[in-house]
Formats: sequence, structure tokens, C-alpha cells
Amino acid sequence: MSAKSPASLHPEARLPEEWQAVVQELGEAPFRGRQVFRWLHARGTRDPLAMTDLPRAFRERLPAAEFTAPLEVADVKRSRDGTRKLVCNLRRGGTVECVIIPMSDDPADDPDEADEDGGWDGRVTLCISTQIGCAMGCVFCASGQAGLERGLEPEEVVAQVAAAKLHLDANEHLRNLVFMGMGEPLHHYDDTARAIRLITHPDGLAISPRRITVSTVGLVPGIRRLGEDFAGKVGLALSLHAPNDVVRGRIMPMNKKYPFGEVLDALRKYPLPKRRRITIEYTLIDGVNDDVAHARELARALAGLRVKVNLIPMNPIEASELGAPRASRVEAFRDALAREGYGVSVRKTRGDDVDAACGQLVLKDRLREKARDRTKESKPCSDGSS
Ligand code: SAH
Repeated sequence: MSAKSPASLHPEARLPEEWQAVVQELGEAPFRGRQVFRWLHARGTRDPLAMTDLPRAFRERLPAAEFTAPLEVADVKRSRDGTRKLVCNLRRGGTVECVIIPMSDDPADDPDEADEDGGWDGRVTLCISTQIGCAMGCVFCASGQAGLERGLEPEEVVAQVAAAKLHLDANEHLRNLVFMGMGEPLHHYDDTARAIRLITHPDGLAISPRRITVSTVGLVPGIRRLGEDFAGKVGLALSLHAPNDVVRGRIMPMNKKYPFGEVLDALRKYPLPKRRRITIEYTLIDGVNDDVAHARELARALAGLRVKVNLIPMNPIEASELGAPRASRVEAFRDALAREGYGVSVRKTRGDDVDAACGQLVLKDRLREKARDRTKESKPCSDGSS
């Protein structure tokens, strides 16, 4: 956890035990801290005066000016497939997006959860962002090409969940939460871990860690810490995208720091509960990693790991020449993995008409700006994970 003192954190970034310390400073009994936490996170109330189970004198002593909303939903873009992208303006500056995806076909979704009649029972998956931009530089990803502006504060991550819940349609409920939006969640490990603690707290939004999936390019220390801190309960998705070091190194700069074999080792050590599997994400890129021979090599590399594979046909982005694979190759790739006994699914493109599909979450302006300044030398590969 970060070394910040409870008082210096935004009110919505404090855990109940940290709130206890703060209310004690204000001369109140510790249990009041948990009450304030509940108002903020379970009930979404930011006005101290409206926290009616607190003594009036205490409500008046709470520093109302600090109880600010971390973000405002500036726009909701609704795709023809029902996906909604929420454009969130952050109070501290900048914009991030999160995506509500009905009838999730995401990796956190287990086939055995499917509705019996094949109908839709209102379940949605929410995909949230952890950074503005991203430092990982994956060549097929718009966020990666935009570079990193800043990491989000824990309260900015939590606020996406709270805001999205308010934007659900009447028949919908939030089932899964995936850290697969803009940014690399394990780059700022402490902030992401704090956000998960806040989101899963029973006195707050109370989302079960088992319904959360964190997706990473493969920052080995972060994978280890996530496994330790949450006892393997938080779902893990690894963006592998290649069957070996050579291909991976071509499209993911981070592979230099954490090579293919080391990343798979980290997965082997992840304290995965029984009957759970790690998701391997594999973005299929035309002519780069989409050959049947790659599929066979991938099958060998993953032998012995408890994984399922989620194939993502690349969504083309402005900043790259790389393109979507041919449909016949996607099928052949999938079949080759299935023949080797892997659970494998092909992710349907959702929300691409509103630029909400994988890899498309980015401020277009920022990308254009970046393209203008781009020099010939390749971007340095930075990793702030600790
Ligand atoms: N940084 C994390 C989470 C964000 S990206 C990670 O890399 O896992 C979420 C997923 O979208 C990743 O698997 C990423 O590789 C994939 N993705 C990025 N750009 C894409 C694109 N243009 N088309 C398809 N998938 C893409």
C-alpha cells in the first residue's frame, strides 16, 4: 500500500480503517469512520450534511469542501450493439473512458454462467481505465501509441464504477468488472491495489474480487504482488499476443524487460483458486501472429498452464498500418488451439462504431498531436512498476 497518510488521501480513496483514523482526529468514535465510508461508497452521498446517521455537530465538522466528485460523465456514446462508452472528465484534469458492455463476451465471463435459455438476463460487464494514455507502447494499441499522460488516482478508478452503475438501464446489473480500458493497471500497482480494495469492500460497492479481472501486458512484479495481496482471488488476464519471444518483442516493447518465459513463469506461480483459469488474450494481427503454425506453437508454450484463450481480431487504429486478420485465419487459429484441448473464444467486436472497442480508447486529439511530434527513433520502454 502507498505510504500516504489517510488525511492526505481524497476522501473516496480512504479505506474504512483509514477513515477511522481521520474521524478520531476530529474527536469522534472510530466506528463513525465506517459510517462515512458507507455513505460515500455504498450510498454515493457526498454531502456530509446528508449523512443522517451521524451526529449533526460531527457532520458540520466534516470538511465538505474536500468531498468533491472525482469525475463527471460528460458524454455517453451508445453503440448500435448496446455498448455504451462513458466519457469522464476528471476533476484533477484529463479525460478517461469506460465502457458498459451488455451480455459480456469478455474473458471474465465463464461459459458455464451462460443463461440457460440463451437469452440475456441483464448482466453487463464494465471495462474501466487505470491511466490516461499508456507507457507500454504496444504497436497495435491506440493508447500505447499515445503515450502516458498520468496514472489515475484510486478514487478516479472507483468513481468510474460508481458512475457506470448510475448509467445502467433499468433491467441491467453489473456482473463483471474488467481492468481492460486505457492504461496498464499493474504499472501503478499501489493505486490499482487500493482501487480494488475500495471496490471490493463489503461496506462499499462490494463487488466480489472473483468478478474482477485485471489485464496486464505482463509486468512480472505486479503479477506476483496481485497474487499475494488478493490470494489469487482477483482474476488475471495476460496480454500475450505471440507464441514466442521474437514475435512478442516485435509488437510489445515490454517483452524486452519481461520476456515471454518469465511472464509465463509468473502465471505458473499465480495462486489460482481451484476451477479458475487465467485468460490469455491474443490479439490477432494480419500476417504478424495469425498463422496456424503460431497457434500450434502457442499451444505448446501454454502446456501445463490452467488457461483459456481469448482471441481478439485486431481493431485497426489510425496510428498503425497493422490490420485485422482475415476471418478464415481467425477460424483456423481457433480450431488449431481447440484441437490441442484449449478453451478458446473469439471476442466479438463491441462498440466499434463509437470507438469503444479494444485498443480504441484514446483521445483522438492526443494521438494526432503525438503523430505530429513523432520522431524516427522508437519510444523508450519505461516501466514504473514496483
Ligand atoms: N494494459 C492492459 C489492459 C489494457 S488493453 C493489457 O495490455 O492487457 C486491453 C486489451 O486490448 C489487451 O489485451 C490489448 O492488447 C488489447 N488491444 C489493444 N489494442 C487493440 C487493438 N487495436 N485491437 C484489438 N485488441 C487490442
